[in-house]
Amino acid sequence: MNSPKYATRCVELFLDYVKINTQSSEGSDTFPSTPGQLVLLRRLHDELKMLGLSDVSMDEHGYVFATVPATTDKQDVPVIGFLAHVDTSPEMSGEGVKAIIHRDYKGQDLVLPDEPTAVIRFDDNPHLAGQIGNDIITASGTTLLGADNKAGVAEIMAAVEYLLSHPEIAHGALRIGFTPDEEIGSGTQYFDVQKFGADCAYTVDGETLGELQMETFSADSITVTFHGFNTHPGFAKGKMVNSIKVAAEFIAGLPKEGLSPETTEGYRGFVHPYMMDASVECTSVKMLVRDFDTANLKELELLVEQIALEAVVVYPDACAEINVEESYRNMKEVLEHHPDVVENACEAIRRTGLEPSIEPIRGGTDGSRLSFMGLPTPNIFAGEHNFHSRYEWISTSDMHKAVEVIIELCRVWEERATTS
Ligand SMILES: [Zn+2]
Repeated sequence: MNSPKYATRCVELFLDYVKINTQSSEGSDTFPSTPGQLVLLRRLHDELKMLGLSDVSMDEHGYVFATVPATTDKQDVPVIGFLAHVDTSPEMSGEGVKAIIHRDYKGQDLVLPDEPTAVIRFDDNPHLAGQIGNDIITASGTTLLGADNKAGVAEIMAAVEYLLSHPEIAHGALRIGFTPDEEIGSGTQYFDVQKFGADCAYTVDGETLGELQMETFSADSITVTFHGFNTHPGFAKGKMVNSIKVAAEFIAGLPKEGLSPETTEGYRGFVHPYMMDASVECTSVKMLVRDFDTANLKELELLVEQIALEAVVVYPDACAEINVEESYRNMKEVLEHHPDVVENACEAIRRTGLEPSIEPIRGGTDGSRLSFMGLPTPNIFAGEHNFHSRYEWISTSDMHKAVEVIIELCRVWEERATTS
């Protein structure tokens, strides 16, 4: 393994943070959704304070913000922010995570000791091929690891520590933010963009080395409700209208090739029924609509409407009601007005010897919402792989590279600011 350009404590910090169970929960009526997140947020708050950052705060919702003061004399360096979320996915246990370091990886399958059937296979993980000679961290087989997004948390903390002890590195003021409940889609609910006070920010929550993401889906959700008529089935002739059958007609009418998550990738969008609440009287189908081009969402919604109306034609006594709700929008619509935010990140990645790879995200990030809230926020890689799964892994070499990108990015913004 090549020794990292900046010797930081990112791995040590990471191994510590994963021990705290910060799994978020969909059904909760508190914010953050689980108390474990507050334990880590409080700890980060205290660590930032101990490091001597200024304006360290933790608000009533758990958001932790802090400032790394500028080291440059230039007056007009934009304030840039770095963000990571502390929660882990509700889909897999985060209780009692035991991180295991597999040193000097040789291309073998990684057997996770606490669950004999849990094996991270080399053949199923194409990115492992680039990790020969590196140290790989996994969980022990019964939990996720939590690299999503504690790797990002540790990388940001390590970069901050490094910058504070190396004031010779010139940079503008930096804002640091740690947030709860990203995994349940609420990460930006109480994010105070004004208080954060940065000109732009970067989430450090991406996957593969060199990746930079500036494009997410645009997303709406649709509820299609079919109303029928229920009556005693023994006396229903000529009266009953079974809305379950209307809904079935509707589902069967959805395109079978393309336009579904299971048949599309890359830049193709889809409509996706994912939940149904069914009874004779009334059946509602919840659907996701996704496309990279916001204008296409409207077309997909019209298509759904048309298929619903065709189902009602087959059952003329039924009726359909369609309700569309906006979820989030492709952050590219914002970021294309701030080309330097993306270009400076590309330059930082290049300076670490990597080729930036700009990949669309087939989902949303906190950054997509923040970008529309006035804080342009692309996503840079943290090195996370197989997230939300017991097969999660990360390499320490990738973590060091992510720290390097953060530090280079601070330099690039400073260098490119006009001298005053
Ligand atoms: Zn994440």
